[in-house]
Amino acid sequence: MSLKLLVVEDSKPIATVIKQIAQSLNYEVVLATTLAQVEEILSGDTDFFAATVDYALPDAIDGEAIPCVLSHGIPSVVMTGKMDDATRQKILDQPVIDYIPKENSQAFLYLKRVLYWQQTNSSNAILVVDDSATARRHIVELLKRRNFIVHTANNGVQALERLKQHKDIKMVITDLEMPEMDGIILTNEIRKKYTREQLAIIGISGAVSGIHSARFIKNGADDFLRKPFCPEEFYCRITQNIESLNNITQMQHAANTDYLTELSNRRAFFRSAEQRITEYVKRDISYCLAVLDIDDFKKVNDNYGHEAGDQVLKVLALYMRKHFGAGLTARMGGQEFAVLLHGLDVDQLYNKLDDFRREIAVSTLPAADTQISITISIGVVFDSKDGLSQQMNEADNALYLAKDYGRNQVVISGNEEQE
Ligand code: GH3
Ligand code: MG
Repeated sequence: MSLKLLVVEDSKPIATVIKQIAQSLNYEVVLATTLAQVEEILSGDTDFFAATVDYALPDAIDGEAIPCVLSHGIPSVVMTGKMDDATRQKILDQPVIDYIPKENSQAFLYLKRVLYWQQTNSSNAILVVDDSATARRHIVELLKRRNFIVHTANNGVQALERLKQHKDIKMVITDLEMPEMDGIILTNEIRKKYTREQLAIIGISGAVSGIHSARFIKNGADDFLRKPFCPEEFYCRITQNIESLNNITQMQHAANTDYLTELSNRRAFFRSAEQRITEYVKRDISYCLAVLDIDDFKKVNDNYGHEAGDQVLKVLALYMRKHFGAGLTARMGGQEFAVLLHGLDVDQLYNKLDDFRREIAVSTLPAADTQISITISIGVVFDSKDGLSQQMNEADNALYLAKDYGRNQVVISGNEEQE
């Protein structure tokens, strides 16, 4: 479902640009060109996710539309042609998301980023640590306008507890001087558990001396803000740090994921499987490593086309995800898949694999405009103490035998008679 954006703008060309930007972010746009129209729209429907409000309108030349939209609880970005100090202050005295001077095309690029963040910030939680309730409230207010999820703590000790409770926290904004545990020690403690790729820390202090920013940074903080700060400065630091964290997350995801099926790729599989197997062996848990391969897949491509083939791979991946649940599933390349399962005993694990083989054999997979039937062969190795690469080879050899024996079956490594 698309979110609704109220665009208040009397200039037609500018309204068109804003509308295009908003639509590219999947917003549904409702346009108003005068204050009277804003009032009329809002008397019927106030269900807007956000608004962009032009400062001067033909019937509201002095920003009167801003309090009108805000009074309906709609988060608003102000677009303005004026950039004097008095206007800026007048706008910032109101709880707006941001204001953007319409000076040049940069303004619209910036608007696009703001509207994008407004949608995505709700998946970013931030912890605000300050012993002063007033200071805390001020920062929380600024963050909430930007749609962040916000948690608070009075000191470093409480902050560490909150981090344990809320695994979704991506950033800590901390004051320097606090009772029980100050901001520097807190930063230090956090860095023992969380890398900079996992969590950003921004230190804040009212002290004039530059030494504090240096201490924050040297103890592992990513950034520093001196009190008092203006909202622009605050938002700039926050968004830059959140953006760089999100970029890292995206890169890590891309590096570990198969682009077609969204399963883990070979690299990620090897890394996770190694860790899990060590754990299973240590705790004496029964497990198996299986390699799955589609039978005569070349014929699917030949008969239905490569795109339909891709579709089959995607649907098979969905079936795997569903059937193997907590197991580790991956696309190892081409049309070969792997799964690492743990369970009660060898029989239960074997049945889980063979049930899957049977389920695929009786299903028809939707691809292109048709339904395609496939079968799969599986090679599996149970409770092996060999290294992972060796186990992969053993599973692969069992897979070849499954193909030799006529496909659509499971063959256990080390048990090489026909199942
Ligand atoms: P077998 O039963 O012996 O496994 O026969 P097969 O036809 O499946 O043979 P093989 O395992 O060697 O499969 C290779 C085929 O897989 C040929 C290649 O076109 C197809 N393939 C590999 N990767 C992809 C892919 O990403 N998309 C599609 N559509 N086809 C792929
Ligand atoms: Mg094949």
